[in-house]
Amino acid sequence: MKYISTRDAKNTVSATYAIATGLARDGGLFVPSGLPQITARDIDRFRTADYKRRFIETAAGFSDEFSEYELSDFAEKAYGENFASTNPAPVRRIDENTAFLELWHGPTCAFKDMALQMLPLLLTASLKKCGETRKVCVAVATSGDTGKAALEGFRDVDGTSVIVFYPRDGVSEVQKLQMVTQEGENVFVCAVNGNFDDAQRGVKDIFSDPVFAKFLSEKGYMLSSANSINWGRLMPQIAYYISAYCDCMNSGMIGPGEKINFCVPTGNFGNILAGWYAKRMGLPVNRFICASNRNNILTDFINTGIYDVNRPFYTTASPSMDILVSGNLERLLYGLCGDSAEISGYMNDLKQKGVYKVSQEMKETINNEFSGGFCDDFDTKHTIAELWEKNGYLTDTHTAVAYRVLEDYRANTNDSTAAVVLSTASPFKFCEDVSDALGGNTGNGEDPVEALAALTGQKPPAPLRGLSKKKPRFTDHVDKKDMKNAVSGFLFQ
Ligand SMILES: *Cc1c(COP(=O)(O)O)cnc(C)c1O
Repeated sequence: MKYISTRDAKNTVSATYAIATGLARDGGLFVPSGLPQITARDIDRFRTADYKRRFIETAAGFSDEFSEYELSDFAEKAYGENFASTNPAPVRRIDENTAFLELWHGPTCAFKDMALQMLPLLLTASLKKCGETRKVCVAVATSGDTGKAALEGFRDVDGTSVIVFYPRDGVSEVQKLQMVTQEGENVFVCAVNGNFDDAQRGVKDIFSDPVFAKFLSEKGYMLSSANSINWGRLMPQIAYYISAYCDCMNSGMIGPGEKINFCVPTGNFGNILAGWYAKRMGLPVNRFICASNRNNILTDFINTGIYDVNRPFYTTASPSMDILVSGNLERLLYGLCGDSAEISGYMNDLKQKGVYKVSQEMKETINNEFSGGFCDDFDTKHTIAELWEKNGYLTDTHTAVAYRVLEDYRANTNDSTAAVVLSTASPFKFCEDVSDALGGNTGNGEDPVEALAALTGQKPPAPLRGLSKKKPRFTDHVDKKDMKNAVSGFLFQ
């Protein structure tokens, strides 16, 4: 299996090279040149297998550079004791044809763990296989959840350092506490004055500056990315779509070969894209419903074919979806047309004018497989309350956005296909807004995690308890232009 850049199909590399470098030199993203196929018989076999096995078999199709033994070893380390549930990605059914795929039982209580417990293993092995001897500095821009998951995944991993930039006023209190209290000898956390797009652009700047790369290299370091532009982060996510399908079959929600819908709370388009790859591999999927919050650029794109960043940026109760430039969309567009010149054209327009319009043909292809919808904070909170009162099921703000969008989609289309909502974070990670939705109060100085526990009688995940009592280790904040200085300061002082 070879990997190619979305901007130049002649630029082919190995899986380990794609993972080791993250971004292609031409600015494109690496995608597999073909997809392994899964059959009804494979699915039948996966039904009785555990999550680790489902991962190993999925991952094996994407590279022959990792032996089955290596992949088993990785699965054991990434999806073992560090998860609070025996199945790292359990499916919770709430009615006849609706279920939630809970992806937040890992150490940082958000779905990013599914990929970021695995990425450090894939990355360090890839570097070794590529003959790389420099140390890696993993630089991350985060809207809240990626940062903590990367810190936890890379903490004290030999030969790596990890530096996380988060928007100063764009993350929840629990998210911030999780990051600034991070333990480990090779970690650094820094706030950026601005929003997530500022932090992301700053990190992109760091990556695309050849002078800075040379400076680091002379000191024995190379840069790498843990953002979802890295193939090594995307690939592990494909497995949980296949796993969810098997579990839906096992619970009797769907029959053999029956198609399902997936509704995904979307930001950078990584999660939903992994599902689309699973579909292209042969998983029986009817539609993907792409759910956004008030930053509804993707809803508009799906409905009009125009991706237009010239719009206000809103800070919402679902901060991990407060994103205007969804990096992984480029991979979908390439997957749909297979024409790197067309993709380069769109991405150039995006860079110069902040807007691009896809061809009519492309728009129709997208509409065959994707629907889009969005919901504001008011409806998000209303949905949290409704799910809790009617179904006794507690969701976080991101998951609630998706459920609401699914309900709207069903009402508008009469599509009664069984649907799985991807549940991307523990409700306790966003306890202020979740408590507020339920009419509770967290503003009286009490630990907000414990307040939500008392209000609902639900047990908070262990990693989120006692955070407010921990002493912050990282209090720095910088302007976007000073992010490179922050990196060199951390590495060399
Ligand atoms: C990152 C994140 C998302 C968005 O996922 P993408 O892969 O960026 O589309 C949604 N919900 C939560 C809780 C997240 O952490």
